[in-house]
Amino acid sequence: MNDLSEVFPNLPERIRGLGELAYNLWWSWHPEARMLFKMLNRAAWKMSVHNPVKVLHDPEGEVLDAASKDPRFLRHYDAVMTRFKAEMKSTSGWFNSNITDPGKFPIAYFSAEYGLHHSLPFYAGGLGFLAGDFLKECSDLGVPVVAMGFMYPEGYLQQRIGPDGWQESDSEALDRENAPIRRVFDDKGKRLVVKVPFIEPPIYVEVWKVQVGRVLLYLMDTDIEMNDPWSRGISARLYIGTPELRLKQEVVLGIGGAEVLNVLGIKHSVLHLNEGHPAFAILERIRERVASGMTFDEASGQVRATTVFTTHTPVPAGHDVFPFSLMEKYFHSYWPSLGLDNEAFMKLGMNPAAPAAGFNMTAFAMRMSGYRNAVSKRHGEVTRKMWQSLWPDLPEESVPIESITNGIHIPTWIEPRIQLLLNRFVHMDWLNEHDVAETWKSVKDISDEEIWKTHFWVKMKLIIRMRERVRQRWLYENADPRIILASGVLLDPNALTLGFARRFATYKRATLILHNLERFKRMLNDRWRPVQIIFAGKAHPDDDPGKQLLQQVFNAAKDPSFGGRIAFVEDYDERLAQYLVHGVDVWLNNPLPPLEACGTSGMKASLNGVPNLSILDGWWGEGFNGKNGWAFGKEDSPDRDVTDSEAIYNILENQVIPLYYNVGDDGIPHEWVSVMKEAMISTTPLFSARRMTKEYVNKFYQHALKSAVKGDF
Ligand SMILES: *Cc1c(COP(=O)(O)O)cnc(C)c1O
Repeated sequence: MNDLSEVFPNLPERIRGLGELAYNLWWSWHPEARMLFKMLNRAAWKMSVHNPVKVLHDPEGEVLDAASKDPRFLRHYDAVMTRFKAEMKSTSGWFNSNITDPGKFPIAYFSAEYGLHHSLPFYAGGLGFLAGDFLKECSDLGVPVVAMGFMYPEGYLQQRIGPDGWQESDSEALDRENAPIRRVFDDKGKRLVVKVPFIEPPIYVEVWKVQVGRVLLYLMDTDIEMNDPWSRGISARLYIGTPELRLKQEVVLGIGGAEVLNVLGIKHSVLHLNEGHPAFAILERIRERVASGMTFDEASGQVRATTVFTTHTPVPAGHDVFPFSLMEKYFHSYWPSLGLDNEAFMKLGMNPAAPAAGFNMTAFAMRMSGYRNAVSKRHGEVTRKMWQSLWPDLPEESVPIESITNGIHIPTWIEPRIQLLLNRFVHMDWLNEHDVAETWKSVKDISDEEIWKTHFWVKMKLIIRMRERVRQRWLYENADPRIILASGVLLDPNALTLGFARRFATYKRATLILHNLERFKRMLNDRWRPVQIIFAGKAHPDDDPGKQLLQQVFNAAKDPSFGGRIAFVEDYDERLAQYLVHGVDVWLNNPLPPLEACGTSGMKASLNGVPNLSILDGWWGEGFNGKNGWAFGKEDSPDRDVTDSEAIYNILENQVIPLYYNVGDDGIPHEWVSVMKEAMISTTPLFSARRMTKEYVNKFYQHALKSAVKGDF
């Protein structure tokens, strides 16, 4: 089934290109390509929840046949395909015109999760979206990257909230054959299966690929018959299971991933590790060099000079530490191949601040990578402090860990109507110049009325969408009416709407705004200037404290005394995130500092003219300029929950609510709209994946690539 004509037998020659397009996520960030599939079969597009591969499975072939003869469709088809082909083929792009000697081989990017589109549930949260947005931007800029990850057949959890507000998780098996992913075949036309080296009993992975514009992402799947039953589940779900299962997952990701590249004949010059999970890939790079005659020190020196490591969290649970006994079980036959003994091997992963704790993946990656970074300026400070013990001779501020602040892929996160508005009022080519501050200046010239009208339309879209979701539940599941009422059916499009959507990790403090319920209730139930809030997010299946917070929120949403002005929407995913970051009025964020390394959902909101009300942590320390939203929480205090919640209430009562409801005779809150504009203008160019990706290239890749060229690999 390697041939697309076998996959889509009814696809007429004239529109054959749709097959290739369906399997290239390029469509996910090009509205005109999505429109093509929607035009083709509106019902199938909706039913498939926007999955072009399903839309093209047209058993009778009638729809496809008609389209191939419809001049209107063909005009659109030709225009999209021309652009698609031009963007796929070209070796042009920013990278190629700026990096003079990139060498022969691409940069390998390894990550445990990727958030690319809701049809591919291979993410749990921000780390995944960062990786997904990065790949899309690499495609746009022409950065030569090849990516490696897992296919999780059970995805991340599907969330269901029981009548008592407790999160029940479900998982729905991914329909591999109908997702925009394809099997990789060997040269004999057989499904490619690769044995993970050095692991006994053996583990095999089947290899899939996702085309992300010009970038290829390979995905490994352990759920195949060749594996022992207990190995089949290694890649079943994200971050699950015992330390041993997790260690196996990371062995497969790092060592198996490196082997997959080998088997495919894809050499790489630079390795970029997105977080510590795939760090064992470093070992394979060293082992190959040792096998070809280098000493461990020579080999690790060369590897270090060409390895980039990005750390993403100061939260301890985010850093894997494996007991030495487990490491010994899986690596005792491995370390001799590096020219090391047990002790020298274990030392590679020792955290000097907790030497007995086990093999620390972050400490290992920090030691073995020549380029290291945290993901915001603030996170950089925290990380240098956290890992100073690795550089005991250096003062904290000189610890060699840089900051490269995360950014979002602008074409992915801009709302299509707002995109049209910018096309009309900024210029037709703004998207190609979106990381240039100058481009955004002309947002000021858009009339307040246009912005406000567009925002209101997008807000209605969110509210209608929420109602439709609940309607299905009401219709088919005969759900408890209180659950229905808690899910947003009573939302009022005219009320000031706050959004709070993120993973329910305890440090994100989802219930902070409920701290003083009476005070908050007064705001919600104000007759003339009401406030409402929409919550969404999943707790990790093993995180009972997180589930308790969720339960508290859900119970508040069910409580009639809040008048239906608190809503909890189930099953936060990429699609729901799109609706929320586009359509609410204010994006609320109040983690416990300094634990939010960066945060990216607030950037998505700001891009669409939704200002942030956020604690000064992560990116907001750089993003807030006094005019583009609201900030609090500068000072630490003994009882932060009290002071921070008071700060939120004060800002809402004294600033946000009066500004929002200060409407002119023309029905438009002009001062509010100027905050919206300022949000778009000031944050978009800086917090774009484009700025971020260029920074990785300029600060790290180009130097690492030079080392690779010098070392001739
Ligand atoms: C952007 C995004 C995240 C990350 O947002 P944070 O602000 O870092 O919490 C998580 N989940 C989804 C679905 C997203 O789109």
